[in-house]
Amino acid sequence: MTATRVLVLNSGSSSVKYQLLDMRDSSRLANGLVERIGEQSSRLKHTPLATGGESRERTGPIADHDAALKAVAEELAKDGLGLDSPELAAIGHRVVHGGKHFTQPTVIDGAVLAEIERLIPVAPLHNPANLTGIRTATALRPDLPQVAVFDTAFHTTMPEAAARYAIDVETADAHRVRRYGFHGTSHAYVSRATAKLLGKAPEEVNVIVLHLGNGASASAVEKGRCVDTSMGLTPLEGLVMGTRSGDTDPAVIFHLARVGEMSIDEIDTLLNKKSGLVGLCGDNDMREIRRRIDEGDERAKLAFDIYIHRLKKYIGAYYAVLGHVDAVAFTAGVGENAAPVREAAMAGLGSLGLAVDDGLNAVRGDEPRLISPAGARVAVAVVPTDEELEIATQTYALVKR
Ligand code: ADP
Repeated sequence: MTATRVLVLNSGSSSVKYQLLDMRDSSRLANGLVERIGEQSSRLKHTPLATGGESRERTGPIADHDAALKAVAEELAKDGLGLDSPELAAIGHRVVHGGKHFTQPTVIDGAVLAEIERLIPVAPLHNPANLTGIRTATALRPDLPQVAVFDTAFHTTMPEAAARYAIDVETADAHRVRRYGFHGTSHAYVSRATAKLLGKAPEEVNVIVLHLGNGASASAVEKGRCVDTSMGLTPLEGLVMGTRSGDTDPAVIFHLARVGEMSIDEIDTLLNKKSGLVGLCGDNDMREIRRRIDEGDERAKLAFDIYIHRLKKYIGAYYAVLGHVDAVAFTAGVGENAAPVREAAMAGLGSLGLAVDDGLNAVRGDEPRLISPAGARVAVAVVPTDEELEIATQTYALVKR
């Protein structure tokens, strides 16, 4: 029997998201989520997509990632999709930080594990959880290839001019301080899907990808290769996000420490968790912000305007970086769903060849689609992202025989 299934695991510090795919036709067999691992109120939600059955939920303590993965395996087994199946070809792991070293998806061995571990200082929140997921999955199926797909890999093609901060080179190198970028799996998938929508090969087009979810990042993709992206050493740089500030003057930190008498940890929490849309208006959900704006709420309006202003600055910057732009693609929760964000981001950019057709922009859907007026010089598109499919595709390409 040929093994054609891939299990995709996205392990966070207290959660595991998973999806089981059959790579013969990229169909989803099951997906689910374990939340609040380590707490009394852990929850597992499992959806058996292959059978079209109802979602199942379990609540009650799940002590650690090991217990979480075992619980997932039990749920899958109930649908005849157990992890001991010979049809399972590999497990693909989302790994947030691959540093400069990992430019491609990689079959995990001891040396790879050690390198992911060495990168913990630059990804203290993410890489430890990803490592736990890998170790747990390996213990469950030691015979199976485990593949790491890195969020940073797509951005390793950035030229030094885009990847370096203008700080002392020796100090930067000693501490591996440089711009790595994140959401790479999404930027890779969406830039390729955008080329396909235009009927072109990825090597034939230049695309600005706007991944606007709770986390948000922009990238400039030249002929299929990333040449700049808005996130940097960590996901804090760049666009205004749900709870992250994005770009600020670094001196804001010194000022808050010296004058505001805040600790480094407090400032870290402020900028990562209490800033962005939530810091500006108390909400990070774009639906709620739009609702408040419709009711005349000034703070929500200001938050929206700051969000759009930053987005426009990056669109202009990446237009200049690329020189020629074939398409701008909106993706992720906000990019795929919030027509007012797309409209406002493109407003006034007609002289750059950028515009949206109001009718097309209002249409909702799950498929990649154009929202620019017919005959526009630059295509504007909505291209739903699919990070799980991309991880599964990259994983399967490495292991299939
Ligand atoms: P992440 O993967 O970063 O957690 P998502 O890509 O799922 O985030 O995006 C989540 C965000 O998408 C929500 O916080 C919300 O702001 C936005 N969003 C989701 N659905 C809609 C919608 N129908 N209209 C406007 N915004 C939406």
